[in-house]
Amino acid sequence: MGMLCSFIRFENLHELKRLCHWGPIIALSVITICSVVAIIDSIFWYWPLDSAGGSVNFIMLINWTVMILYNYFNAMFIGPGYVPLGWKPEKPEDMMFLQYCKVCEAYKAPRSHHCRKCNRCVMKMDHHCPWINNCCGHRNHTSFTLFLLLAPLGCIHAAYIFIMTMYTQLYHRISFGWSSVKIDMSLARRDLSPVIPFGLSAFAASLFALGMALGTTIAVGMLFFIQLRVILRNKTSIESWIEEKAKDRIQYYQTGETFIFPYNLGSKWKNFRQVFTWTGIPEGDGLTWPVREGCCWYSLTVEQLKQKKDKQVRSVQYRVIENYGGACCPVTKGIKTFFTTPCSEEPRIELQKGELILATRGLKHWMYGDKILEGGGTTEAGTKNRGWFPRRCVEKCVYDNGTDQTEGKKGR
Ligand SMILES: [Zn+2]
Ligand SMILES: [Zn+2]
Repeated sequence: MGMLCSFIRFENLHELKRLCHWGPIIALSVITICSVVAIIDSIFWYWPLDSAGGSVNFIMLINWTVMILYNYFNAMFIGPGYVPLGWKPEKPEDMMFLQYCKVCEAYKAPRSHHCRKCNRCVMKMDHHCPWINNCCGHRNHTSFTLFLLLAPLGCIHAAYIFIMTMYTQLYHRISFGWSSVKIDMSLARRDLSPVIPFGLSAFAASLFALGMALGTTIAVGMLFFIQLRVILRNKTSIESWIEEKAKDRIQYYQTGETFIFPYNLGSKWKNFRQVFTWTGIPEGDGLTWPVREGCCWYSLTVEQLKQKKDKQVRSVQYRVIENYGGACCPVTKGIKTFFTTPCSEEPRIELQKGELILATRGLKHWMYGDKILEGGGTTEAGTKNRGWFPRRCVEKCVYDNGTDQTEGKKGR
């Protein structure tokens, strides 16, 4: 019923298109296969209508499926919450503490980040999850985490059913002979007439579903503990990365600052209560956040601005010496480039001989950076000019003393 309500409540039915993506298709297939096979196996192994145990087993099984799907669809369709287009802080003097998103034409509220897949600035963005084909952020953090908790629990129950069904079936086949197809060895119906014979295909299906259930338990279970850590520390994966870069920046320039992460409220319980409330709706509007003592509202965004400036100073300019078409694993750029392609969904950028690139990070055979457009500026997120490219297609620009680059460094 709850699920139905959350379906009908959508102001935006176009959100249904989120289902047409490999992530939700695979996730929903796994949920369907495991649930259907578990229900069929339960009928064989523990007939639900003859005993209290059988009924409880069956009701619990249905319950897992409903709760898993409910939280899954909530995480997908309620979404993370987006910063309103054109948003700016109430006090105009606060604008200087915030980054500006050209795509959303809005200031980036504290803790929000622009997601290229969603093409919006996402409130308290943690990451873009391909399995729900949406971002995990402020509004869906609760349902997303509950899904990550319930899916492994449901899978463990299902795996137990698969194992017990296969065990009892095999045991009795061996005891009574393989030819005796017409036996039903469910615990409660041992002495009654058979319902359906458990054939080889049913056995194979149970084995297949068992593999899926165990795989899901391990993979999703790990994701649950990652999210639990995020919630208890009130620090998203992106913010952990910003904090790490802050330490690195402070150490590099020996500025003597100390960076205190502002949103960790000091107690795990307080942090937990920010996400899990009795109403089911997380605390706050997603734009303003309570901060711990000694920090101000903009402690983190100011740090982000410093890092952005530092990145421009510390990045290195490269000139393209070889055209590159933007392929993930380019065949013509050498075997090492081919095999060491970065394992990320970040885009590749096309290169034309003579173009200039501002590289911000690099691997041995690949680099990541922005194209420098005519007029001198680099591009904002959302355009096709930022991404990975093979290192062998570019060479470092050499400057005389006194260029922008060296001046920038001297200036610090
Ligand atoms: Zn944006
Ligand atoms: Zn996203």
